Parts: sequence; C-alpha cells; structure tokens
Amino acid sequence: MKNYVSTRNQQEPVGFYKAIVQGIGNDGGLLVPDFELPKLDLSSLIRLDYVSLATEIVSTFVPEEGRSLIAQACLNAYGKGLFPKEVVPVKKAGDAWIAELFHGQTAAFKDMALSLLPHLMTLSLKQLGEDRKVIILAATSGDTGKAALEGFKDVEGTGIIVFYPTDGVSAIQKQQMVSQEGKNVKVVGIKGNFDDAQRAVKAAFADPQIAQACNESGVFLSSANSINIGRLIPQIVYYISSYLELARRGDIALGDKINFCVPSGNFGNCLAGWIAKQMGLPVERFLVASNKNNILTDFFQTGRYDANREFFKTNAPAMDILVSSNLERLVWYMTGRDGDKTRSYMEGLKNNGVYEIEPEVLARIKEEFTAGYLTEEQVLETIKDCYDKTGYVLDTHTACGYGFLERYRRESSDKTPTIVVSTASPYKFPESVHGAVSGEVLDVYTAIDRLTALTGVPVPGPLCGIKERPVLHTTVIDRSEIPAFIKDAVRK
Ligand SMILES: *Cc1c(COP(=O)(O)O)cnc(C)c1O
Repeated sequence: MKNYVSTRNQQEPVGFYKAIVQGIGNDGGLLVPDFELPKLDLSSLIRLDYVSLATEIVSTFVPEEGRSLIAQACLNAYGKGLFPKEVVPVKKAGDAWIAELFHGQTAAFKDMALSLLPHLMTLSLKQLGEDRKVIILAATSGDTGKAALEGFKDVEGTGIIVFYPTDGVSAIQKQQMVSQEGKNVKVVGIKGNFDDAQRAVKAAFADPQIAQACNESGVFLSSANSINIGRLIPQIVYYISSYLELARRGDIALGDKINFCVPSGNFGNCLAGWIAKQMGLPVERFLVASNKNNILTDFFQTGRYDANREFFKTNAPAMDILVSSNLERLVWYMTGRDGDKTRSYMEGLKNNGVYEIEPEVLARIKEEFTAGYLTEEQVLETIKDCYDKTGYVLDTHTACGYGFLERYRRESSDKTPTIVVSTASPYKFPESVHGAVSGEVLDVYTAIDRLTALTGVPVPGPLCGIKERPVLHTTVIDRSEIPAFIKDAVRK
C-alpha cells in the first residue's frame, strides 16, 4: 500500500487521493509518503519528454490503477500549450546552469506544481466519490496566489480563496492577483505578513466553527499551499528533467553527481529535489539560498530554528518568510521518521517560536545541505555582475541562489557542476532588476519596457498588457477577520 502518514504521527495513514483532498494532516502535521520510493532508471528516463517523464514520476506516488488518470493530468498540465515544449529550459550563465522554472502562466515556479494540482484534485475527488464542493485556501507571499488562481479558476466542484499580505507583494504580483477572472475565485488582501496569512489558513482547518459551517453547507476545505503533498510531487519532476537535459547535451555523463542551488522560503522547492535524490538522482549537495530573512541559514548552520526575530520586507518578497512549513517534512525524515519527536519540535515552535534539533540530526542534515543568504544590496550587485559578465538576466530570488553559489565556490573547494533553479522571471520584479542592471530607478511598467529594450529578453506572454487589466478584487481585511471571512464564504 502506498500510504501517507502525518509528520506528527497522530493521524491514521491515508492513500494518495485522500492525501491530496485533505491537504494537511488532521493533527496539524504534513502528509508524507510512508513507502519505499522506487529507484529511477535514468538510462530509460532520458528518452522521455517532459509529459511522459512527469507521468512516470507522479505515477509512482499513486495507486497502480491510477496511472492512466495521471497520464491525462500531466498531458493537460504540461502538454497543452500552457508551457513551451521543453517545459523547463536549462540555460548557462557563467559557471552555472540555470533551470528556468518560470515559463508557465504566471511566470513563477509555482506554476510547475499548480498547473497539475487542480487536475490531481479533481481526479482524487472523483476516485473518492466525493460530491461535496471543495474550497481551496491559499496563503501567498506573492506567487502561489496567482498560480493557484490560474489553476483553479472555473474548475468544477471547486472554489478558491487567496490571502495575500496587502503591502508585502510586488506591484506586478498584486496586479496579477487583483485582476484575476473566474466565477469561483476570491482574492483578499490582509493587513499582516505572509506568516500571519499562512498561520490563519492552517488554523482554519482546525477551527470548529468553520468546520460546522462547512458541514451545514456541504463543502470542505483543502489547501493549495506547499503543505499539500500534491504541490511537492510535481516538483520532483524538474529536478530529474534538468539533470537529464545536461546529460543529453553531454555537459555531464549520466550518473555524474551535481549540486542544486535553490532559492528557498517555505522550503517546498528544495525538499522536492531532496526527494528526487532519495529516488536515486545523483545529487551531491543542495545549496539553500535565502534573502535577509535568513532563518533557514541559521537553522542549517546551528540546528536551532528560532522565529523570534525581526521580519524584513525585501526585494525578493516570495522568500520573506519566518515559518518555513516544509522544513517539518525534512526534520521528520532526518529524525528517522520520528513523528513524536517532530510533533514536540513543532509544539515548541508554536508555543515559544523556537525548536532545536539534536546534534546527530544536524550532522546528518549538514552532509547534504549548505545554506547561505544575500542582503538586498548583494542581490542587486549579483544581478548587475551576472548581467555584465554573462548577459543573463536574473530575477531577485534567483540572484540569491546565484550569488550564494559564487560565494560557496570561493569559500569551499567544491567544484561540482551546479544547477541553480530559477524561480521567477525578472519581469515579475522589474523595478529591482532594471534598477540593478541600469542604475536607473523607474516605475514598474516603464521598467518592464526599458528592461526588454536594454537586454533583449522578451516579456513573458502572461505579463503582456497586465497594466490595462481591470481590478476586480478590492477586499482588504485585518488578519483577525480571516476566520470570519472563511466562514462567510463557506456559507455562500
Ligand atoms: C515561492 C517562491 C520561492 C520559495 O520557494 P519555497 O518552495 O517556498 O522555498 C522562491 N522564489 C520565488 C520566485 C517564489 O515564488
């Protein structure tokens, strides 16, 4: 049986479909696969295109008879023109490869999973014979919201509510969300930061009043955040595809080890890469890159996760996070799948804002992960320097990765070939990126025009004409009003 268990060990194991639909463990933990993952056969996978590769990989997490459903879902997500043919192009910038994860509908890496998740959700609902309506809740630091809205808009049997920090996302991210069309969507600004939104969404699942409203209205809640295992599984695919792409070109030999450098906030992206490694992808090390909100850097260096610290709004806002949800999954694995221990850590985090792992667990983690961060100034310097030297235009998040990789290489003797996963198009943060390469600070839309004129990098299709789109969502609420808002939405 391919069972999923909670990282906090207080829920009965469930199957794949239930795990997707449920979104989060009903003990507040995160669901994780509790079965032996099959080993990748790279020499046969190398012949597959992205759709077929995704089908192979995702199917290994699903009951055997679900394979044809998964094949159809992967085709719908990645093979019907929402992405370019290669889906994840791999470019070169200086000594690093860049796997571009931003060629989906919202120009950020969240599209990689959120193009597939709605298909996984609807097929799971069918398999379970579920006839209630599902309402998807998503908290966003900027990119999840839009990608989830695009994925779930007008999907039958679903509704979606996105909460974003009204002053904590970029101008483009905000305009993308407030102009969202679709009959089943709600977009809500909150006065607070991403962590406030994420905490409120997690709490909604355990709120008895919300549960009652759901029961009375014949609906139930699920999550589109990376707490849902259906976000993680599709992300495993591009680690494998970008590795195979290097091998296909002869840049590496099949079986050579490489490093991945991953701009990280909630840690879902990097964790998916680590799962690919558990399946046999030859990875030496993961470089975990952050911005000035360097809580992950401290954790990977000291084993102490301490959220009692100042929160900074930075020019890489999708990584402005203090409570990194998916770290819980890594901690669970690294403690030897110890749900009781993981639960006690998470209780410490909830009650005191801090937990600390044992030295031997930290030692295990350090064998595979190295973390570092860039300040805002270093982000801008990295963008300029990389552009001047290589002509490649980094976005602010990817620059955290690129800059950290350069520093890591200077300070270590590690010459392992490295793929930096690029998480956003530079046009999502055009003021910062244009400012960095030209030295000129402009308003957002002028910056887009000038950046493309200067660098020749085309503006992604989904961002063309965004300025003219009418604003359809103006609701802004206090974070304390989130539960009441959800209850109301459920009743309608
Ligand atoms: C979400 C996001 C990240 C962080 O990814 P996690 O999986 O949360 O670590 C980094 N960069 C961009 C552009 C993002 O949208």
